[in-house]
Amino acid sequence: MNNSSSQSGVLYLVATPIGNLEDITYRAVKVLNSVDLIAAEDTRKTKILLEHYKIDKPMVSYYSYNEKSRAPQLIDKLSAGRSIALVSDAGTPGISDPAFHIVKQALENSIPIIPIPGPTAFISALIVSGLPTDRFIFEGFLPVKKGRKTKLELLKSESRTMIIYESPHRIKRTLADVNEFFGNRSVVVARELTKKFEEIVRGPVQFVLAEMQKKEPRGEYVIVIEGASSNSISEENEE
Ligand code: SAM
Repeated sequence: MNNSSSQSGVLYLVATPIGNLEDITYRAVKVLNSVDLIAAEDTRKTKILLEHYKIDKPMVSYYSYNEKSRAPQLIDKLSAGRSIALVSDAGTPGISDPAFHIVKQALENSIPIIPIPGPTAFISALIVSGLPTDRFIFEGFLPVKKGRKTKLELLKSESRTMIIYESPHRIKRTLADVNEFFGNRSVVVARELTKKFEEIVRGPVQFVLAEMQKKEPRGEYVIVIEGASSNSISEENEE
């Protein structure tokens, strides 16, 4: 562990829009304008945001395939007193997006980390879902193959509202699995939040699945799933 001096720079984790470019805080814009370097998951996408807000800063890529090798390079810059803003493709860094390695290494090197809060898709989906928001769990993406069945079995008796991320290619399959493993529970499918084709479909999963069959799924999806009722959990235990 390198005990950085008080001159080390700050690592800012900056939340950016999940679609609508106006969903960014004044503070996020100010921080992006003030740092020495922006580490971005997708530099082309972040360039659009920076141009929109007339922010002219050097950028470097930081994404899942290079984060292990990139993190130490960024730590060196931070240790030398440079400040860095980490942004992901969309929403909050670290939420189903890279950030973990650099956060861990920054902590090991006593580098201050400051969160700049803002949008994250799952919270937006949850608050409009109409399902209980007092207790919930966020599962990110479900495993695609290995461990998927085990995870679904585990979640079957979860009583809190569940939130998962899904791609257009797998949305129907995942809803079909929810129906198979959990039964015809209430779900909410939130598509393209904050964007032109924003759409929210609520209802029992069989109904939502039937709606999804009407057109080819496109865009980005969040699925919010009703938790198991105490009745269904005790029925399961009796089986
Ligand atoms: N860091 C992001 C966040 O804070 O929400 C999540 C990044 S993750 C790689 C991308 C997934 O988030 C998408 O596949 C989708 O499930 C969800 N997502 C992101 N933007 C969305 C939007 N505008 N509407 C619905 N879902 C969205």
